Amino acid sequence: MKKPCETRLFINGEYQNSADGRTIPLINPATEETWCEVAAANESDIERAVNGAQKAFENGWRDMAPGKRAEILFNIARLIRQHQEELAELEMLNIGKPISDARDEAALCARIFEYYAGAVGKFFGETIPVARGGFDFTIRQPMGVVAAIVPWNFPFPIASWKTAPALAAGNCVVLKPASLSPLTALRLAGLAHEAGLPAGVLQVLSGSGGKIGDLLVTHPLVKKISFTGSTSIGARIMELASKDIKRVSLELGGKSPNIIFADADLDLAASSSPMSVFANCGQDCCARSRIFVERKIYDAFVQRFVEATRALAIGDPSRAETQVGPMVSSSQRESVESFIESARVAKRDIVCGGDRPNGKGFYLRPAVVLGCETSDLIWREEVFGPAVCIRPFDDEEEMLREVNASPYGLSGSLWTNDLKRALRVAKRVESGVLSVNSHSSVHVEAPFGGFKQSGLGRDLGMAALEGFTELKNVYIAL
Ligand code: NAD
Repeated sequence: MKKPCETRLFINGEYQNSADGRTIPLINPATEETWCEVAAANESDIERAVNGAQKAFENGWRDMAPGKRAEILFNIARLIRQHQEELAELEMLNIGKPISDARDEAALCARIFEYYAGAVGKFFGETIPVARGGFDFTIRQPMGVVAAIVPWNFPFPIASWKTAPALAAGNCVVLKPASLSPLTALRLAGLAHEAGLPAGVLQVLSGSGGKIGDLLVTHPLVKKISFTGSTSIGARIMELASKDIKRVSLELGGKSPNIIFADADLDLAASSSPMSVFANCGQDCCARSRIFVERKIYDAFVQRFVEATRALAIGDPSRAETQVGPMVSSSQRESVESFIESARVAKRDIVCGGDRPNGKGFYLRPAVVLGCETSDLIWREEVFGPAVCIRPFDDEEEMLREVNASPYGLSGSLWTNDLKRALRVAKRVESGVLSVNSHSSVHVEAPFGGFKQSGLGRDLGMAALEGFTELKNVYIAL
């Protein structure tokens, strides 16, 4: 067994074993080999981490000059860039992410820290001319200890886009990566410490969410929970947090539409759409897994989409040309296979993929499913894997009704060259994020989050800073 990097918890500026010495094995999804053991936090580790973070908040971080805080965040960004290759390799070995994607994500994380380093001095209150005269102004204050709970599909970016704004706003963070994907979060803590972040300001607790999640969420010193993960766990967190009105922000599941009108650039829409759902092996909350194609171009679109899907480079994530690697785990692959099986049983047309290639690794070829009814499980539910359904539509209103029939509302794409239609339809799609003639969902500078059961609150952009501060109004009688 190879020990690739630091696998212990990071508490109060030091790597340390969990209090009871327990560990969780990590399996390389490309080889199915157990390749390291990572510390699993327990109740007493949570106590130490949360209390240490509270102490760090009170003893300096809260009151540190904003310019100094910004300097430390810039240093973190610099160290992430210096260690980009190491961080990318960790992510690849940990969750099977293609190395070129992992490199891009590490670069994105550096940009996230730079953005929030720059934002430290650009987020402030206002003065208000209240009716009774005097002097009235608002202050944005940090909350204290924030718990950041992140999933396994984009471990480093999501850990960064929660940690960086929370720290920029003056909070201390207890970061809990998913049990399957703790390595970049643990490495980030060490780099942040090296960059000058005081002990206790960022604590990282690896381990099982099922075991320690409730304790962390209900800890009296945790003032806010910023969660990304499944809708079911998000609902549980919201329920637990409601007891003492803790602040929560939730980024949850999705079932995003990809809408193609007949006047769109067909070549561009069809050639780019496969990676809008199969990137990260479909394990993407923004995956465009329901494609609505105007009937006039349906056959032409499907033909090109399937050709482009068959041409995807699937395989070893360590190869620079790989576009689709293995799924994260055996159980995640089985879960996706059960959706594909339900389509098979219902006699839907699986025109390609849905099968396992020979050899080791949790690979699953991207599946394209035609002929679904809107009541089909695979059409309605988040599959979170490499499977897409394509349906034709005739009428814009009817299509929008079906788009919005989903309880989710995270992301989506819309393809048309008619500006009026683009604006009209973009306004009507019930989602927090939408792209026209593009599939991009995430911009460091813009808010990211969902409508309906896809979430509450916003990550990224200046909106994230609102979510990590309390707004106070101060009135001075003159
Ligand atoms: P998950 O809900 O199983 O786990 C997410 C995190 O919550 C993990 O760190 C896990 O350990 C922790 N957790 C588990 N039980 C907990 C509990 N009782 N209390 C507190 N924390 C607990 O999700 P996942 O399987 O890691 O990720 C996949 C899901 O995440 C999908 O539904 C996907 O759509 C969603 N996701 C959403 C976004 C977004 O921005 N909207 C981004 C990525 C992933």
